[in-house]
Amino acid sequence: MAGLLDGSIALVTGASRGIGAAAAIELARLGAHLVITARTQGGLEETDDAIRALGGEATILPLDLKEGGQIDAIGPTLFQRFGRLDILVHNAGVLGRLTPVAHIMPDDWADVVAVNMAAAWRLIRTCDPLLRLAPAGRAVFVTESRAREPRAYWGAMGATKAGMEHLALTWAQEVATTPLRVNLFDPGPVASRMRFNAFPGENQATLVAPGDVAPALAALCLPAEARNGALVGAA
Ligand code: NAP
Repeated sequence: MAGLLDGSIALVTGASRGIGAAAAIELARLGAHLVITARTQGGLEETDDAIRALGGEATILPLDLKEGGQIDAIGPTLFQRFGRLDILVHNAGVLGRLTPVAHIMPDDWADVVAVNMAAAWRLIRTCDPLLRLAPAGRAVFVTESRAREPRAYWGAMGATKAGMEHLALTWAQEVATTPLRVNLFDPGPVASRMRFNAFPGENQATLVAPGDVAPALAALCLPAEARNGALVGAA
């Protein structure tokens, strides 16, 4: 399978279903070897099956992004196994409970901060050295409009995605003189488990599918894509 990403190593978080799985499959279609992470082994195996059905290759790396030590091990593990990392897609995210800010429970807050924001910082920390060495390193952080448009009951999601965006855009400035390019990707409303949990009464058949937004996300990972510090939408 000859492709634009042949020989590249790509790490995708939240690749057990939804947008992350579709992004991983699209990157594999373009020729990258995928390292796919999430907590659900069965979901990762389904993504792996889909990648293999295309003639691609994947490595499953089950982990819980709430465990900082597991994230810290990613960079050294990838270096030992592959000697390189070309692409990081931090797609994993959690909604938390949609509730007034005054009612957010400490455990829920800790979970949403850990996955949506702290994991982004720890992924940057562990992947930065390898991505800087890549000839055309690319990092994409999947974000959401609530980061920029506060709405009642979405405080934990919005605040943590805003924090993630700030970290990513700051990192983009810090690597501006290197080949590494760092961007944000907002897919807009997409049929997924998270979307169902946020809007249970919605008919998901009226929404685009994860596979529909994956090409726009994957485009930000291509060597020719030179944007840095941009917010890109799927439309
Ligand atoms: P999803 O189907 O719920 O997928 C979320 C992914 O994150 C799953 O693979 C899940 O895997 C992973 N994840 C959650 N907690 C984790 C943890 N503690 N450790 C490791 N992985 C974890 O949701 P989605 O809609 O595809 O969302 C993907 C991204 O798109 C999110 O960042 C979301 O904010 C963003 N987004 C979605 C929409 C939309 O309409 N769907 C709109 C704007 C932005 P496991 O459960 O297997 O761990």
